[in-house]
Amino acid sequence: MAKKDEVLQCSFCGRKKPETDLLIAGLDAHICDKCIEQAHGIVMEEIAGSNASALTFDLIVKKPKDIKAFIDQYMIGQDQAKRVMAVAVYNHYKRLIQPDSKDEEEIEIEKSNIIIVGETGTGKTLIARTIARMLNVPFCIVDATVLTEAGYVGEDVETILTRLLQAADYDVSRAERGIVFIDEIDKIARKGDNPSITRDVSGEGVQQALLKLLEGSVVNVPPKGGRKHPDQKFIEVNTKNILFMAGGAFSGIDKVIGKRLNRQEVGYGASIKGDVVDQTNMLKYIIPKDLRDFGLIPEIIGRLPVLTHMDPLDEKTLRMILTEPKNSIIKQYQKLFKMDGIDFTISESALIYIVDKAVEYKLGARGLRSLCEAILTDAMFDLPGTNEKQIKITKEYAEDKINMSTIKKLKAVS
Ligand code: ADP
Repeated sequence: MAKKDEVLQCSFCGRKKPETDLLIAGLDAHICDKCIEQAHGIVMEEIAGSNASALTFDLIVKKPKDIKAFIDQYMIGQDQAKRVMAVAVYNHYKRLIQPDSKDEEEIEIEKSNIIIVGETGTGKTLIARTIARMLNVPFCIVDATVLTEAGYVGEDVETILTRLLQAADYDVSRAERGIVFIDEIDKIARKGDNPSITRDVSGEGVQQALLKLLEGSVVNVPPKGGRKHPDQKFIEVNTKNILFMAGGAFSGIDKVIGKRLNRQEVGYGASIKGDVVDQTNMLKYIIPKDLRDFGLIPEIIGRLPVLTHMDPLDEKTLRMILTEPKNSIIKQYQKLFKMDGIDFTISESALIYIVDKAVEYKLGARGLRSLCEAILTDAMFDLPGTNEKQIKITKEYAEDKINMSTIKKLKAVS
């Protein structure tokens, strides 16, 4: 304990209290703001310098079951996809902590890039984003439809990595361990079964260009992206340890799967013999060959070796999505209202009504949000600043707002 007349000082650098902005007391010592900053810098440097051991630590903590349990907090259902992806991510990070070996005999673990097939709005992006959040690695989403072969109007595939670099605040080593989600991969499928003789700008050429990124190579990345900045210096990014996830709706692939299953039944005595084919969810029978028949080139399929699917969302799942996930839509509204001191509740019948409308308008899970917005915008506009301390949404209230809103027009679009 310091005596009354003694001036306190930092036990690390000796600065007297008046010379510091802040002096924090410990059990038997004090530390000043400057020393805290310096110590923080040292800790960060240590962590950056021993990335491998940090990863080892991550792996110890996150086994596939833990990964799935984490995703479960944010995502309802989709058990198969969660299991497959948990294993793929686990193996990917195991691969990363493998010491670089020159030994020819050494078994090399290949990349576990993933392809997810599922209708739009079934959670493909959500699962990728959740995994990135758990691993605390840079994450970016790119839309495959804007990509073109070099020399054509559009974005070169290298700009995918520009996004990742941006997500990593241009820290190349962090970006090199990041996750890229390529959305709408199905849109770059070759049109028609036969390779075209004329150049296919949007399809096969882009698939070819993607290959080198997926398999792992050093790529020159324009830091600002695009071709609008011709004099920018390229940054070299090695994609060897970047995990790629690709997602697509592959609309119509159920017919490809159905055809194959039919043929198998006739030709080989049925691979799913005895089982009745679940016509409502053909995607669960998907195999890589179906992607090929859809128009992805074999090399791309080979570099996205983990194939999984998303189940269509039934009413029960949609109902759970509204309230169950850690940051469910309803919980978000509750929080928003609470910030204005308003207690927000919604009746079960109103929730069921929202689900029914999402199904009727064929909006899927994404529609739940737009429906809630349509129902709650008036309340969110009118209530703040008034003396109102609570709002209870009933089915009648919800019905009223939906009938008045423009959301009904979506029905015509879908
Ligand atoms: P996709 O990428 O398949 O088109 P998204 O991942 O963008 O779909 O999902 C659309 C919206 O629906 C997101 O807001 C997401 O939070 C929600 N959502 C979809 N599926 C689920 C699920 N299984 N559990 C919780 N939320 C979901």
